[in-house]
Amino acid sequence: MIRFRVSAMLLALLLLAPHAAIAQAAVQYTHADTLRGTVGPARAWWDVTFYDLHVRVDPADSSLVGHNAIVYRVLASGREMQIDLQAPLQVDRVIQGGLSLAWRRDGDAFFVTLESSPRVGDLDTLTVYYHGKPRVATNPPWDGGLIPVSDSLGRTWVATANQGLGASVWWPTKDTQTDEPDDGQRIAITVPNPLVNVSNGRLRSVINHPDGTTTYEWFVEEPINNYNVTITAGHYAHFGDFYDGEGGVLTLDYWPVDYHVEKAREQFQQVRPMLECFEHWFGPYPWYRDGFKLIETPHLGMEHQSAIAYGNGYQNGYRGRDLSGTGLGLDWDFIIIHESAHEWWGNNLTSADLADMWVHESFANYAESLYTECMHGTAAGADYAIGTRSGIRNNR
Ligand SMILES: [Zn+2]
Repeated sequence: MIRFRVSAMLLALLLLAPHAAIAQAAVQYTHADTLRGTVGPARAWWDVTFYDLHVRVDPADSSLVGHNAIVYRVLASGREMQIDLQAPLQVDRVIQGGLSLAWRRDGDAFFVTLESSPRVGDLDTLTVYYHGKPRVATNPPWDGGLIPVSDSLGRTWVATANQGLGASVWWPTKDTQTDEPDDGQRIAITVPNPLVNVSNGRLRSVINHPDGTTTYEWFVEEPINNYNVTITAGHYAHFGDFYDGEGGVLTLDYWPVDYHVEKAREQFQQVRPMLECFEHWFGPYPWYRDGFKLIETPHLGMEHQSAIAYGNGYQNGYRGRDLSGTGLGLDWDFIIIHESAHEWWGNNLTSADLADMWVHESFANYAESLYTECMHGTAAGADYAIGTRSGIRNNR
């Protein structure tokens, strides 16, 4: 079961923000929470090895249509599979081996019955076709869903954020942190021209269609938390760099909105010292194969794996504020440092249970102090850590 429903970033805010509300109403857990947070019998017998996700986005009405081919290894006997897809999205059909399978809906979960019991050790594929208008986030990234907005020139900008809420808010998946696709994921997103979609991993192809849309095919080679998978479609510019790091040559790719290129070139210089510091303390950046990216987003930020969401306004601190009260937090960009730290703590090392997201957040918060230490020495790192204590509250 899920013991809390606040997002981990919100949790960090509760821990750190000096005047954040601290009382949480007693949480009532539902049957849907139990299905979402438990590795039940319809989840335990199969292990995801690959997701092949294809989604067409229509920003005009905030709708999606797509399919996800789920490749999985059979670990034990079982015939019923739980696939998560949150209302109001609709499953259109579930296909395996050319056959349409029966399913029953139980809230935000679908229980699919296979034609026959697979053999243990088999590698099988189940494809879920779906469509609909997903929940729209009202206060992202604290509140998740699709984020259909405009940039400051009034042009379409669409993103997703769904930490805590779960990836199944916009695509059909096994929505648990216990099972990542071992061989990675394709994320092929089709958007109307001239939007450019930036997702996780590397861009493999760009396919123009006669109907005025373009498919951006991104590919993640490493296992990925499903809450990190993202759509980010807007009027992006791109520039890149290379970092000679502990794991070889790492590609750095930056995707600011086109009118922010100069600001991004300045602010994103903090990536190199961040990598130097964190590789020193934590070991090689975990995703050399998938690269490092910062993507400007309409929300504050999120640790989207190999595609860090950046919305801190090209300023230092946390939206220009120092969470430690020492002034040291104004020497660096909170979102670049904190969200990138999650590549080690949260994305590479992931808690099995959503209820243990404090593991991700506490190490990312500690990383802020380490970064301060890298920049200004041991005493400064300690001062930053001590300063952030003033934001700690006991909510019991
Ligand atoms: Zn965080």
